[in-house]
Amino acid sequence: MRICGSFLFWAKKKHGAAARRELERESNNVELQNRMTVNLAEPVTEEMPTDRFIAWTLERFSDQRMVITTSFGMEGCALIDMCASHGKPITVVYLDTGFFFQQTLELKDRMAERYPHLRFVNRGTSLTPQQQAEKYGDELWKTNSDLCCKLRKVDPMYEVMAETDVWITGLRRSQSVARANLQMIEWEWRYQALKISPLAKWERPEIVEYIKKHSVPYNVLHEQGYPTVGCTHCTRPVPGSTLGDYSRAGRWSDSEKTECGLHGGEGI
Ligand code: SF4
Repeated sequence: MRICGSFLFWAKKKHGAAARRELERESNNVELQNRMTVNLAEPVTEEMPTDRFIAWTLERFSDQRMVITTSFGMEGCALIDMCASHGKPITVVYLDTGFFFQQTLELKDRMAERYPHLRFVNRGTSLTPQQQAEKYGDELWKTNSDLCCKLRKVDPMYEVMAETDVWITGLRRSQSVARANLQMIEWEWRYQALKISPLAKWERPEIVEYIKKHSVPYNVLHEQGYPTVGCTHCTRPVPGSTLGDYSRAGRWSDSEKTECGLHGGEGI
């Protein structure tokens, strides 16, 4: 059934706003159904629209243990919105390091409220900052940031991945040299999981455009000069940075380190 705008106009005149809302809802459902009609035999290519690729992923691996992982960066928020729009109860995993900005925690609450059909799960380390200090010394992020990232990010990630078959990420190729060869679908040997990166070919301005168009919540720190947001101890604003700029310059800015080790590259 196809519902056109003139029919909606007629319905509004004849039956009032309630009827119009009902028809609009039906129209939206039809649109959603069309998007969710996936031909699994369709070849997956770089040219496939992201929305169709996500629909294909959710359908193709519906019987697998599938998670989205996020640190609530702008890309992650856009990805969550794209996946959520398909109406499936996907699990979103985040690793609270114990050093999140308050703004990040507030964003997590806003996302959970906006997408009640998704399951937001914190799989951060049980090692408290105090226990870490007692065992490894004060301010480990200064004395051995690789070990700190291993304890608070990488080890917990391995635990998540041990229970995951299909891992959906918000990574983009142009984020860094280490991510330049990212594939939309690839086997991640390290985690023994299928890694899906629907945003691989997206650029930051497109992400911002999507976020704005769909009113997706995002971290207010992005408007205060933070191109990316990680732990409080290791994230700094980058002077002059705007929403559309992506740079890892504000991360571990006192060292050569650019990656925490979750996604390969140096840092582990
Ligand atoms: S980003 Fe910094 S504080 Fe966070 S886990 Fe890594 S080294 Fe530790």
